[in-house]
Amino acid sequence: MPDTIDVQRLHSAALDAAANAIVITDREGIMVWVNPAFTRLTGFSAEEALGKNPRDLIKSGAHEPAFYRDLWQTVLAGNVWHGEMTNRRKDGTVYPEEQTITPVKDAQGKITHFIAIKQDLTEAKRLEAQIQQAQKMESVGHLAGGIAHDFNNLLGVITVFGELAGDGLPADDPRRADLQNIQDAVQRAATLTRQLLAFSRQQVLHPRVLDPNAVITDLMKMLGRLIGEDIEMITELDKNAGRVRIDTGQLEQVLVNLAVNARDAMPRGGKLRIATSPVQLDNNAAHQQGLERAGGYAVLTVSDTGSGMSAETQARAFEPFFTTKGTKGTGLGLATVHGIIRQSHGNIVISSTIGTGTTLTVFLPQVASHEEERRAMAREPETQGGSETVLLVEDDAAIRLAASTVLMRLGYMVIVALTGEEALAQADRHQGAIHLVISDVVLPGLDGLGLVGRLREQRPKIKALLMSGYPSDSMTRRGVEQSGLPFLEKPFSTSSLSRGVRDALDSVTPN
Ligand code: ADP
Ligand code: MG
Repeated sequence: MPDTIDVQRLHSAALDAAANAIVITDREGIMVWVNPAFTRLTGFSAEEALGKNPRDLIKSGAHEPAFYRDLWQTVLAGNVWHGEMTNRRKDGTVYPEEQTITPVKDAQGKITHFIAIKQDLTEAKRLEAQIQQAQKMESVGHLAGGIAHDFNNLLGVITVFGELAGDGLPADDPRRADLQNIQDAVQRAATLTRQLLAFSRQQVLHPRVLDPNAVITDLMKMLGRLIGEDIEMITELDKNAGRVRIDTGQLEQVLVNLAVNARDAMPRGGKLRIATSPVQLDNNAAHQQGLERAGGYAVLTVSDTGSGMSAETQARAFEPFFTTKGTKGTGLGLATVHGIIRQSHGNIVISSTIGTGTTLTVFLPQVASHEEERRAMAREPETQGGSETVLLVEDDAAIRLAASTVLMRLGYMVIVALTGEEALAQADRHQGAIHLVISDVVLPGLDGLGLVGRLREQRPKIKALLMSGYPSDSMTRRGVEQSGLPFLEKPFSTSSLSRGVRDALDSVTPN
């Protein structure tokens, strides 16, 4: 057992060591003792604090007189007061703190002192704000994704019936031009929804061979709106840049993120330049740019005349959640860009000078063979029908009607079902062959992938074609990508539907 002196010494050492600021005042609120944490929190030394009322030292003016009245009433009645308070440091900055004030009574029960224990809430509040911001982004993303999904379905219906309406018209009928205007507008709307889905990261990946110049040109108008008028946009697109294999939505996402960063770096305006060019890299040069292979690359640069980045910022810029923009930044832009580019076997490098500007250079491997392209071109014009039996599973009534109308006009025998379960029952009842199942990925109950698996237990040779605007969760998305089943993106047109169906039917292996 330590003796009394020791206990006192230990008590006082403990109070000194406490992380929380501790203040003892007399009955009138005059400070008679403070610990070192109080000085760390407020900036006032013990000498400056003792003999004063906290009111005169650290009151911030953030609270109404009633707030303090309530506090005093509580503690003078002998009760503990607990709450949050905003106070002011010696240097004038205000800070939030959590405070517990406990009255101390003498042997007669009379209050002689108050003990206040304070905890700095600055860091906790900052974290809370950050989490709130992240949650807000997530819910905006969900909302955008949800609207885009329904919107896509409607666009599919407009496309299909617009095309069907034009079918019977003579070649020189003026209504053909009206219908074409409708289709053009639908295409633009579909591009917008793709961008919304890219923003909410809910798109299905379709790496395909594309011309980066075309994607940039298509995106310019939207970028213009995003960047604002104070920034001059320049494009220098080399038509020999080459073709690359990447998902359109992802390439758009890369460009949008880089352009937004450039905008943020130029709050008082400046120049944003987007350029493309081809480059041939030997082994050495490729390794220097962090690339695995020698060969031809399409180079995409996004340059600004903004603030530039320090060496430290450059070193950390691709880290997820690294941001120099406080709560306005997510720190996810460049991390996402980096992920997309690496996934496409390319690389992205920064070169930047403080005060002069920044250039982000993206290398994407050029696709050597034109095989894939030629195949795509060859089958573009035809819309071939057939006489096979197809099972169409779609829960959206309008899409179901549009798709079945097109398929029947093409000569197919169509069985429709609203759900996976109903499709199984239909297949059970149907005596003859079913050559193909066309199913929405996301269905209430049994989903598209599950349905294909179940159908193949009974009919191992049945071909399958999945369709969706986006599978809503990443599990489903990965499942679809890994299944290797052909996939038809909504909104579809009569030609993309007829081609998708024909290709799926003609594929050699059960796909
Ligand atoms: P965020 O934009 O949300 O901060 P990013 O991952 O897009 O996150 O960017 C990370 C950081 O890299 C930014 O906070 C900024 O400091 C720096 N940065 C990115 N692009 C530029 C640029 N064009 N000019 C200057 N700094 C940039
Ligand atoms: Mg950013």
